[in-house]
Amino acid sequence: MKILCIEDDVNLVLMLKAVLVNQGYQVDLAEDGEAGWQLAQKYSYNLIILDLLLPKIDGMHLCKLLRSNDSIDVQHNRNTPVMLMTALDTVTNKVTGLDVGADDYIVKPFNMDEFLARIRVLLRRSGNQISACLNWGELCLNPNTCEVSYAGQPIHLFKKEYEILEMFLRHPQQIFSHNLLLDSLWEADEIPTHGALRAHIKGIRNKLKKAGANNIFETVYKLGYRLKPLAVANASQITITTPKKQFLPISISPTDSLIPELRELWHQSRQSYQERLLIIQKAVTALVAGKLTPEQQHEAEREAHTLIGSLGSFGLDKSSDICRQIQQILQQAHLLGKPKAEELKLLVAQLQHCIEMDAPNILGLNNSLVSHLLIIDNDIGLAKDIATEGINRGFNVNIATNSEQAEQILVSGAIDVILLNLDYQNNLEIGLSFLAKIRSQYSQIPVVIITQADSFATRLEVARLRISYFLIKPISSSQVVALLTQVLHQNHPPLYRLLVVDDDPGILQLVYQILSPYGYQVTLLDQPLQFWETLEQTNPDLLILDIELLTPEKGDNTRKLSVNGFDLCQIIRNDWQWNRLPILFLSAHTDVETIQHSFAVGANDFLSKPIVAKELQARIRTRLEQQANWKLTEVDELTGLSIRSKALKNLTKLLQQAQSQQQTLSLAMLDIDFFKLINDKYGHPTGDRVLSYFGQLLNQSFCQQGVIGRWGGEEFVIGMCGVTAKASCELLTQILQKLRQHSFTTDREISFQITFSAGVAEFPGDGQDIQALLQAADAALYKAKQQGRSLVLLATDNYTK
Ligand code: GH3
Ligand code: MG
Ligand code: MG
Ligand code: MG
Repeated sequence: MKILCIEDDVNLVLMLKAVLVNQGYQVDLAEDGEAGWQLAQKYSYNLIILDLLLPKIDGMHLCKLLRSNDSIDVQHNRNTPVMLMTALDTVTNKVTGLDVGADDYIVKPFNMDEFLARIRVLLRRSGNQISACLNWGELCLNPNTCEVSYAGQPIHLFKKEYEILEMFLRHPQQIFSHNLLLDSLWEADEIPTHGALRAHIKGIRNKLKKAGANNIFETVYKLGYRLKPLAVANASQITITTPKKQFLPISISPTDSLIPELRELWHQSRQSYQERLLIIQKAVTALVAGKLTPEQQHEAEREAHTLIGSLGSFGLDKSSDICRQIQQILQQAHLLGKPKAEELKLLVAQLQHCIEMDAPNILGLNNSLVSHLLIIDNDIGLAKDIATEGINRGFNVNIATNSEQAEQILVSGAIDVILLNLDYQNNLEIGLSFLAKIRSQYSQIPVVIITQADSFATRLEVARLRISYFLIKPISSSQVVALLTQVLHQNHPPLYRLLVVDDDPGILQLVYQILSPYGYQVTLLDQPLQFWETLEQTNPDLLILDIELLTPEKGDNTRKLSVNGFDLCQIIRNDWQWNRLPILFLSAHTDVETIQHSFAVGANDFLSKPIVAKELQARIRTRLEQQANWKLTEVDELTGLSIRSKALKNLTKLLQQAQSQQQTLSLAMLDIDFFKLINDKYGHPTGDRVLSYFGQLLNQSFCQQGVIGRWGGEEFVIGMCGVTAKASCELLTQILQKLRQHSFTTDREISFQITFSAGVAEFPGDGQDIQALLQAADAALYKAKQQGRSLVLLATDNYTK
């Protein structure tokens, strides 16, 4: 089923494509009206989705063309349904749209489920039918082709068997009585018997069992049959669980399967939204200075318009609404005067804040607090100890004692990390071959090895399978879980930022094309004199430098400054904050002296032009991985947060960023309440577990935005740029509520809860440097303790109360 989507907002287009492809549609994209027209001439489509405001040919005009009898070239699409899509939601527009021949009209921002439902309706109406595949574990039923398969192997069912299976898969929770099935699946003039129905059910069971899918139906005593939830179907393994993530056995809910794609796209699109926002901000600054031009006003309005649709489509309704207000102000025909400036300034600030705060929540980035651990071990004693320790630290744990159980659990797709005892079958060979199997089938899941056999040969085999974690028994369960926590932190790497400096724009573009598909955020710079400024603004994780850099001549009499790549490298190495930044030289020089000199001034790597894409990617990845390993020494093992010195360094950087971009910065100090009592009452190891859980809670609540550090003992610090103290205070209060609801359990099965107190200061209001801000936050924290604890206070509360 083929869909043409004509839309000029690249991010929205990518999102729609991901969603539609996920539903089994084929999608062609066009970014302007002309490109769309050309595609429509060439191919026939089952549906055309059309934006109204488009470059080159606008949507209304295009729709008219598609429907016109004179357009012989698009005869094949004459009856293709057209869905208009736009942020313009006035009634006139809708009516005009439908008048020129559109079949439906959807207003941005729209709800994805509604969008998909409307598409289904349009396709049905025009005689096209398509549905998503219905799945139960590896069982797949494709309603479009009427094919059933298990683990990719086709299963041949009779017509009635197929209909029964489809019925169950479509209604995973429903109990079907014999009568209900007979009434729903047999025509009125057929006279089926209960015996025939039983035979069909048995037939399905047998065929599925042969293919490897056991126990698909469960018999509900006296009521009928029901599709067995997957988790129950796999129940032969021992499962110890904490309250679970919502786990749907049947993946036909579009939004459920959508979230990973949305998250990915959000990361990709984020920067372009910031750029759009920057254009609006610049227009507002110009307005304040009385220098706003009509072009600028128009451009800002266009950007606001685009943001309404794209942010809303990500579910950021509040942000989308603010954009609408901004657009309405900017839309005024006459040039805006200064009185509007304040209003706009406020709206833009609100928008920035909303995007920062809402996006992670809406996209479910904060909700993955429970990590799923699979322990493969037949030493049930140690496995259970590790499981208990893991559960206390917020893991959901499954134990498998043999390969079949392990594979059943892995198929469910919910596992985040595996702990494998190589001797689990009392045979190292079996352990190693199973490891190789997991590696090839589930390469994305990190594996930690635990073994008694500490031989060089085993280490070698494990290393060759690219496993980085190797533990030798005996080892305490808390040590194992501490490492597992660390591995998980590492396995969710942040979005890496790369800065590339070259005076040749062609090379810059090429590097961009090579690297950006890998999810890196790449900044290009061809003006070496703007190097330092750009470095501080972009805060890269890795720097790529050319050696020869042409510095543009300055027309005035200022001393001509010329720099080359060596100079830039040296400058970095001289700076205490930046000196550990990995630097890779990319140069046309290949002589030994140049290479030697590069390493002498502090390069980490050297690559010669012409660029070989695969080599560049591999070198960057290796360098970033090494850097990540090195960074582990800056991470506190227990909490997974930055150690104090690193946090201080990062806070200083953050403050510089806030100063140069004239943004606010919030700085919070947190302290767990009555923590000493927990140690005294339940023991130090329990105290450690609390700290570990708390670290994880902070890390995931802020999803690696800003600076989060363990300041010492049970004290923590959190810095965020562009976020006011008030907003930070609200967020911390939410986290406090979440923490209050969490029950910790001691070894003796005693439950208890904890709370924290915090103080929040803001730059520039409460202090001009980090020291002053820390003091202000600490004073507010002290006050919160005095007022009874379990409380977050603003530093300004200190002055006013
Ligand atoms: P308040 O509400 O006033 O903050 O009371 P408190 O008991 O939390 O504060 P206090 O500063 O008296 O005690 C902090 C305790 O934290 C003392 C110290 O033994 C404990 N602690 C510090 N680091 C660790 C650690 O790494 N693990 C464990 N288990 N305890 C630690
Ligand atoms: Mg548009
Ligand atoms: Mg303390
Ligand atoms: Mg304390």
